[in-house]
Amino acid sequence: MKIILLGPPGAGKGTQAKLISEKYSIPHISTGDIFRKNISEKTQLGIKAKEYMDKGLLVPDELTIDLVNDRFTNDDCKNGFLLDGFPRTVKQAEALENFLKAKGEGIDTALLIEVPGSYILDRMTGRRVCPSCGASYHIKFNPPKVDGLCDLCGSAVVQRKDDSEETVKERIDVYEKQTQPLVDFYKQKNQLFVVDGTQLIDEVFKIISNHIEIEGNK
Ligand code: ADP
Ligand code: AMP
Repeated sequence: MKIILLGPPGAGKGTQAKLISEKYSIPHISTGDIFRKNISEKTQLGIKAKEYMDKGLLVPDELTIDLVNDRFTNDDCKNGFLLDGFPRTVKQAEALENFLKAKGEGIDTALLIEVPGSYILDRMTGRRVCPSCGASYHIKFNPPKVDGLCDLCGSAVVQRKDDSEETVKERIDVYEKQTQPLVDFYKQKNQLFVVDGTQLIDEVFKIISNHIEIEGNK
């Protein structure tokens, strides 16, 4: 399966991606996680990406598209992938389409996790993430089993620098201007599936799983 996760920051993409990737054994490709890894390793890419990420802006398309195309060459993408946070612009979506078309392929579905703006600030300022494996928690809605430690790998969870109130507001603005047009992009191609992301994490996952199984049997 080739799946795209769409939705505003804080919708629950990363949370659902971990569950989907585990259940269906497809690699979870998060461009945000790849950039953060590069930042922590102080690579050239990380140094460039940080300038934009700290301000809540998108990393330029050329850098992002090359990064994803390169990631697709990994063996683990043979049976598909789950994209979380990519594409984020129409240019990225077109690049992905052309990349797959050249191999006679296409995506199976674009899952939009929809949440109203009023949920986003709470979700993001309460988010804690595992710097080692990328798992996402929330101090109120989804706390780790042991306070402050990742359930999956035991590392200490941290708050992301770009989850401050001021940066979150910029990111919501960027989403509305640059990423929201992708909803229509995939709707017009009959590839869009919308799920109400205000429900409990397990409920959202149940609905997504159902849809993936229907798509997988087509
Ligand atoms: P995204 O990857 O879309 O930015 P995350 O998956 O990191 O979003 O989720 C943002 C925050 O909201 C995290 O703290 C996460 O634990 C929490 N969260 C995710 N899904 C839900 C949900 N359905 N209900 C309540 N909180 C949620
Ligand atoms: P995320 O982890 O998906 O919330 O992404 C965190 C930040 O990484 C974003 O605010 C952007 O600065 C950057 N980023 C992640 N994915 C992309 C992308 N596809 N295009 C441009 N910038 C991205």
